[in-house]
Amino acid sequence: MLHIGCHLSNSKGYLAMGKEALRIGADTFAFFTRNPRGGSVKPLDVEDMKALVNLLEENHFSKLVAHAPYTYNLCSDKENTREFAHRAMKEDLERMEYLPGNYYNFHPGSHMKQGLEAGIEMISEALNDILWEDMHTTVLLETMAGKGTEVGRPFEEIESIIEKVNIKDHIGVCLDTCHIHDAGYDDVNALDEVMDEFDRVIGLDRLKAVHINDSKNPLGSHKDRHEKIGEGYIGLEAFRKIVNHPAFSGLPFILETPQESNDGYAEEIKLLRSFVK
Ligand code: FE
Ligand code: FE
Ligand code: ZN
Repeated sequence: MLHIGCHLSNSKGYLAMGKEALRIGADTFAFFTRNPRGGSVKPLDVEDMKALVNLLEENHFSKLVAHAPYTYNLCSDKENTREFAHRAMKEDLERMEYLPGNYYNFHPGSHMKQGLEAGIEMISEALNDILWEDMHTTVLLETMAGKGTEVGRPFEEIESIIEKVNIKDHIGVCLDTCHIHDAGYDDVNALDEVMDEFDRVIGLDRLKAVHINDSKNPLGSHKDRHEKIGEGYIGLEAFRKIVNHPAFSGLPFILETPQESNDGYAEEIKLLRSFVK
């Protein structure tokens, strides 16, 4: 079975997200751990989180893929921005312990012209500070489109970060189909080769989740503008291959396409499930 869901709003709480996921035919989902732009966080509601854990178990959900806010930048050139990301990520992961066994995905960061090596160093140092030995969440580095000074466009950059992290049991990768496409990896015509390269550089055992998005821009554009499934430069036929590709077998797929309402996601979920051979 294809494990698939979409990004949901956390505004009505955790249990509400689980119910909404069921309504739209999802068996996984993503959510922001706090306000994606501002960074403010709601008071912890442990009962609500426990209620979601029960719902997920009863309905045989796959792992969830929580998303860190876009404002986090562990390799910013501003010390207070780095410190905020550091503190907030630690706090997010402490909260994730109430939803044990799931994923927490984040954008590696932008080095702001301090240089790639400095960026990689800061990100991995921060992770070494943030992760702890017996945590119950796996932290995922997202593959990036390479906009501006983003770290994590070539697979090698993701690997360089992982290599410097001490606690490797709790680290993995989330592959975004729009981002790798915009990064220049041809997931339309050469998916096998792209995934062979992922395996060679990072290792497929590190791949834990997929963000499944079409792209508004052509291959290698370094743009990162998501499009609805089948309406962009990746196209329906490529998605038919993606959902059936052995490299992604059993992984949670998360839609982050520009939809007006969750009913749009329900349609995409139905469509992608119909592709499964
Ligand atoms: Fe993301
Ligand atoms: Fe993504
Ligand atoms: Zn994106």
